[in-house]
Amino acid sequence: MPDNKILLLGTRNLGKVSEFRALLQPISWDLISLQDALIHEDIEETGETLEENAILKARRYASLSGHWTLADDSGLEVAALNGEPGVKSHRFAGENATDQDRINLLLKRLEGVPAEKRQAKFHSVIAIASPQGEIRLSEGICKGIITFEPRGTKGFGYDPIFEIPKIRQTFGELGFKEKNVWSHRAIAAHIAVETLNNIKFS
Ligand code: IMP
Repeated sequence: MPDNKILLLGTRNLGKVSEFRALLQPISWDLISLQDALIHEDIEETGETLEENAILKARRYASLSGHWTLADDSGLEVAALNGEPGVKSHRFAGENATDQDRINLLLKRLEGVPAEKRQAKFHSVIAIASPQGEIRLSEGICKGIITFEPRGTKGFGYDPIFEIPKIRQTFGELGFKEKNVWSHRAIAAHIAVETLNNIKFS
């Protein structure tokens, strides 16, 4: 098979890799990871928006690998914190912090904020870059609320404190398939599938 049906997943986050593998099943491309492509470079997310960072990662990994590349930048926007941590979701509690540290800090910052003021949004921007650096973008938003305590051990990142009000369950309590019914990344990936299915090779 020629190289042009290979899609590199430009992320080191293993939670995202497994979600993307499930979400991108309807495409006929072969998915490969950064490890498969022998890429060890980490890219500093210097952009000020999710879109800038998604483009930065997709373009850089596409140029390093010579393959079409999909990268997402995502974050949690909390209304009571004026949209923080947003684009800084990963670095919210410092560079070497764990998911648990980030959750603890967020809950601390929301101490005293009542249930009706705990609205939040998960936001994902996916960029697909050609080896020459052309970009296609898609976006997904998922609305929820921040719980008072973590619930559930599934997923990654802020999943245990993000509740979908309609089903009163956190992403940490939902199985993989159920999370993918609601999630910001699933919405953006659904559009990315259309995009990938429409890319024509000469
Ligand atoms: P980045 O997109 O790799 O810069 O990191 C985004 C950060 O946002 C992740 O490290 C998580 O902390 C958080 N995040 C993004 N998407 C999710 C999700 O689906 N569940 C939980 N946390 C998420």
